[in-house]
Amino acid sequence: MTYVERVLDDLKKRNPGEKEFHQAATEILLTLEPVINAHPEYEKSALLERFTEPERTILFRVAWVDDNGKVQVNKGYRVQFNSAIGPYKGGLRFHPSVNLSIIKFLGLEQILKNSLTGLPIGGGKGGSDFDPKGKSDREIMAFCQSFMTELYRHIGADTDVPAGDIGVGAREVGYLFGQYKRIRDEHVGVLTGRGLSYGGSLIRKEATGYGLIYITAEAMKARGYSFAGKTTLVSGSGNVAIYACEKAQELGAKVVAMCDSNGYVYDENGIDLAVVKQIKEVERGRIKEYANRVQGAKYFEGCKGIWTIPCDVALPCATQNEIDEESAKALIANGVQYVAEGANMPSTLEAISAFQNAKGVVFLPAKAANAGGVATSALEMAQSSGRLYWSSEEVDAKLKTIMVNIYHNIDKAAKKYGFDGNYVMGANIAGFEKVAEAMMAHGVV
Ligand code: NDP
Repeated sequence: MTYVERVLDDLKKRNPGEKEFHQAATEILLTLEPVINAHPEYEKSALLERFTEPERTILFRVAWVDDNGKVQVNKGYRVQFNSAIGPYKGGLRFHPSVNLSIIKFLGLEQILKNSLTGLPIGGGKGGSDFDPKGKSDREIMAFCQSFMTELYRHIGADTDVPAGDIGVGAREVGYLFGQYKRIRDEHVGVLTGRGLSYGGSLIRKEATGYGLIYITAEAMKARGYSFAGKTTLVSGSGNVAIYACEKAQELGAKVVAMCDSNGYVYDENGIDLAVVKQIKEVERGRIKEYANRVQGAKYFEGCKGIWTIPCDVALPCATQNEIDEESAKALIANGVQYVAEGANMPSTLEAISAFQNAKGVVFLPAKAANAGGVATSALEMAQSSGRLYWSSEEVDAKLKTIMVNIYHNIDKAAKKYGFDGNYVMGANIAGFEKVAEAMMAHGVV
């Protein structure tokens, strides 16, 4: 057994039942073999054992009162995974599926993603099994205030800076920040994704989606290709999906489908994004509505079918494991050329290997492709610390530079170890090298 295999074996025994965490750790660690082999000192100092064990895991009760006067209890999580290169940084997810395994997989991914941005941010993630769907505004506020009443003691502008994720958007960040400020009496950059009137950054809302398109466009450019005229699928219709669609359309792509957790819409004339924004951002409605409002558009129940639509570019921007092997094979058979992950871990391990084994398919993994969100969060932190604001153009230009650099860094790292074009390896290795160096410098902690 190699060192990596032993660590994985042990990790599975010590963290039973955490299947998403096992999946992410397996995907990451197996690709690090070449780096580990080049650094025998890593094994001596149990670097991988430390890298896969969170520095701190906080689990807490969140009690709140609903509109019927009934007391509700949810689980709260914050996993402070790795602070070797900067304060913990990573989003909060509010979704009924949230459990420790999901938070740990997201946290582990986040360490490498944050490192790839080139900015000084460590990795963390948190959330709750609270379901914001169907809740009144007052219930959301009550929940967020209770959540922060525990979380505040564990976070800080130089310690741990959470942000949004699934189910946590501008409204939730506002309530969370308000409660933090009330308890601590500090107006600091302790959360990112804040509103523009109280310390937020321009372009943060758009950043993950825009960043996804910038890195994909750079990969295309390297191959003499571009988004112009390319049939594109975007799954999801949330924050990442909407702004990925917006930028892809700006670059000339024809986005023909989007979805939510109930089903997908197909619009062969190209998605009318203003209608999607109205349904999702304003009315908080269902994507099904789109087909009622736009002539020629069709709605299909269930999401899996979206991947059977022929396309040049597939951008999964909804949730983990939304593309399985069967869907990957359907995409490949229909001629997909670029798959770039906007969501976290949207492709199963089998789907990733199908993409990587298919000739001519460029696969950009989440930790590189969706790093634009956290990168812009780090730019928000920089603006907060400096007590200043940059213009949209300044932030957008910095975001673009970061994404272009990420592409070239992962490309270089893959080539350095003889895996040209394997961006899963390139991203894991490029992200890991910096974290490993910092951890070694800090001694056994
Ligand atoms: P949102 O909550 O804004 O949107 C999520 C979208 O995905 C919604 O349209 C939702 O539909 C859909 N969805 C959720 N579950 C499923 C499912 N099982 N099948 C099909 N569709 C589903 O979240 P974000 O856009 O912020 O996040 C999307 C992904 O991107 C997540 O994986 C997140 O971790 C990742 N990400 C987000 C970043 C950000 O800056 N926001 C940064 C980096 C990564 P419905 O409304 O029905 O639930």
